[in-house]
Amino acid sequence: MTKIAKGEVWGEVWLVGAGPGDPDLLTRKAERLIGAASVVFHDALVGPGVLDLIPADVRRVSVGKRAGRHSKDQKTIDQLIVEAALAGERVVRLKGGDPSIFGRSMEELTACREAGISVRICPGITAASAASASLGTSLTLRGLARRLTFVTAHTKKGQLLALDWQALADPQATLAIYMGKSSAPEIAKGLMEAGMAGDTPVAMVENASLPEEKIFRTRLDLLPLGAKTALGSGPALLLIGCIAERNEEVALHEAKAELARTLAQQEPEA
Ligand code: SAH
Repeated sequence: MTKIAKGEVWGEVWLVGAGPGDPDLLTRKAERLIGAASVVFHDALVGPGVLDLIPADVRRVSVGKRAGRHSKDQKTIDQLIVEAALAGERVVRLKGGDPSIFGRSMEELTACREAGISVRICPGITAASAASASLGTSLTLRGLARRLTFVTAHTKKGQLLALDWQALADPQATLAIYMGKSSAPEIAKGLMEAGMAGDTPVAMVENASLPEEKIFRTRLDLLPLGAKTALGSGPALLLIGCIAERNEEVALHEAKAELARTLAQQEPEA
């Protein structure tokens, strides 16, 4: 067994949170695990800067999951992990954000446990935390946003969203919607039909924490149009509720960040 830190031994398989993309947002433990692995199975959302931390002699397998474009199905991924662990490999399963949030971790944990393999989790920074940091806001607000709901709007192709809109349309809550960009029209309609005000602030953060990050702010009734036109094809998180409102100080910060990005892009290569 490989010792990875004082008192810790390799748990055969580690599900490791890679955070939202910026390698500086990786935990020290995640970095140590990546450095001590013999094989890393990673999905498509793991940022390139994080992948660069995988030592050259460590086998790296992309199991590339992005919404609607699964390069390997979940059962195959479970099987690959189990087979590698049974073959004596030190397995890291590297997942975007936090493994326990919309990461299909339960299937992988169960597959390992059923095969008698010990499996452990190293948490990561989830996209909602990265997005609120980028927006310069808090996900909760004393007296105004007392509840924070993580929800996914992801549906299997052709299926309508079956969300409890009544429960979600709470003006005292923040909604953090994962995989929601393509369902933006249904989300806006569902929430407004359940009584949420059309002028509720909405912010979308695409590629949070990465150099190509984009922020788009709108209101609930204008969300369908904005989601279609304002962002690119990167992963995006939707934040809905009073915390998504922009104030002047934040607007200034965003404008400066945008300017810095534009200037960096214009800089001639050395
Ligand atoms: N386990 C991940 C979520 C996986 S679901 C986590 O904890 O963050 C994938 C969805 O997460 C994407 O469709 C998007 O909604 C969100 N997401 C992941 N990385 C993101 C990023 N860098 N910026 C914005 N949203 C992101």
